[in-house]
Amino acid sequence: MKEFHIRDEFLPYSRPLLNEEEEEEVLKVLKSGWVAKGPRTLELEKKFAEYLGAKYALALNSCTAALHLSLLSAGIGKGDEVITTTMTFSSTVNTIVHTGAVPVLVDVDPETFLIDPEKIEEKINKHTKAIVPVHYAGMACDMESIKALSNEHKLFISEDTAHGLCTKYKGKLIGSESQAASFSFYATKNICTGEGGMLVTNSKDIYEKAKVLSCHGMSANAWNRYEKGGSWKYDIEAPGYKYNMFDIQAALGIKQLEKLQFMQERRKHIADIYAEAFQEEEAVILPHIPQNTETSWHLYVLQIKEELLKINRDEFIEQLNSLNVGTSVHFIPVHLMSYYRENYGYKWGDFKVAEDYYKRIISIPLYPSMSDEDAEYVVKAIKYILQKYRN
Ligand SMILES: *Cc1c(COP(=O)(O)O)cnc(C)c1O
Repeated sequence: MKEFHIRDEFLPYSRPLLNEEEEEEVLKVLKSGWVAKGPRTLELEKKFAEYLGAKYALALNSCTAALHLSLLSAGIGKGDEVITTTMTFSSTVNTIVHTGAVPVLVDVDPETFLIDPEKIEEKINKHTKAIVPVHYAGMACDMESIKALSNEHKLFISEDTAHGLCTKYKGKLIGSESQAASFSFYATKNICTGEGGMLVTNSKDIYEKAKVLSCHGMSANAWNRYEKGGSWKYDIEAPGYKYNMFDIQAALGIKQLEKLQFMQERRKHIADIYAEAFQEEEAVILPHIPQNTETSWHLYVLQIKEELLKINRDEFIEQLNSLNVGTSVHFIPVHLMSYYRENYGYKWGDFKVAEDYYKRIISIPLYPSMSDEDAEYVVKAIKYILQKYRN
C-alpha cells in the first residue's frame, strides 16, 4: 500500500469566510458610535426578508432565541405538547422545554433521516400544539405532509431552518412561506455573524409578539430611545428576554448575505467533488437528496458501513484526525442525552432509525473558505483509511 503524505496544517471541520469586506463594515459600525441594535440590524432584517421573499424578519442573537420566541409568540406553554425529531441539535428541544411545554420526540425517515410525518401523526393528541420540523443538513422535510397534519389538527409549525438557508422545497426557498422559520448565523452555519439568528415569519402577530419579547418585553421600537427625538418612555408588556441582535453582528451579516450566492456555489462545488469521488465506494453511503429538495449543502454527512471495515465510526474519526482532517457528528440523538433520559424516560432503543444512523455518520469538511485541494485531500485521506481497514 502506498505511503500517505500527511498535510502539515490541520484542516478544521469548519471555518467562516470572513475577510476585508466584513472588517471594513464592522469598523464602520465601531466608528459610528452606535454599536447596539440600530440601523444596521434593521437593514439586515429588511435585506434578509427580501432575499427570502417573506414578510417579516427579526434579527436575534441566536437561532435558539428564534426557536424559543416563535413558540412563545404562538402561545405555546405549560400543558402543551410539541413534536419534533430526535435527530437534531439539542437547542431545538431545549427551547420547547423553556416554554413549559412537553417535547415529544419522534424518529426519522429511513431514507431521508428527516422527521417522519407518519411518526408525527402517531403522537398527535389533544395536548399537541405545534410541530418543529428540522431541515437537517439542508434537506427539506416533507412539508406537504406536515402542513396537511397542521391543517387537520390546527397545529403551529415552527421550522428549524438552522441548516436551511438557501434550501428550496418545490422550487421555493425554505422560510418564504413559513409561519415561523429560525435561521442560525453561528460560526459553522451558511452565513456567519459570530453568533446570531433570524426569526422569519409571514404572520404580523407572531412578528410583533416576538419583537416585544426579544427586547425585555418593551413596547415597540424602544431600541432608539436614546436618539434625539426618541422617547425615554416605555412600557413592559411582558417579562421579555434580551435576545436582540446588535449592529456589529448585523454588519457581518449584511456582507455575508452579499456573498451568499458565491458561498453556495463553493459549497455545491465541493459537494460535487465528494460525490464524484465516493460514488463507487462500497463502504460509504452518500447523502440522499430528497425529491423536491434543492439543498443548501450545510452538511456533507457520510455514512460508514462498519460491517465492511475493521474499524468503527469513532475510530474512523480518530484516523481522519491523525491525518489532519477535522470532522464532526450531526447529531447525537437528543433522546440519548442525560437530561432527556432522566426527565422524559427516553432510552437507547426508542428510535431505531436515528440510532442506527447516528452510529454510522461522519460530517466531513464542507465550507466556502476551503479550497478544491483541501477537498481533494479529504477524499484521499478517506480513501486511504477505507483501503487500509477494509475487511
Ligand atoms: C446550530 C443549530 C441550532 C442553534 O443555532 P444557534 O444559532 O447556535 O442558536 C438549532 N438547530 C440546529 C439544527 C442547529 O444545527
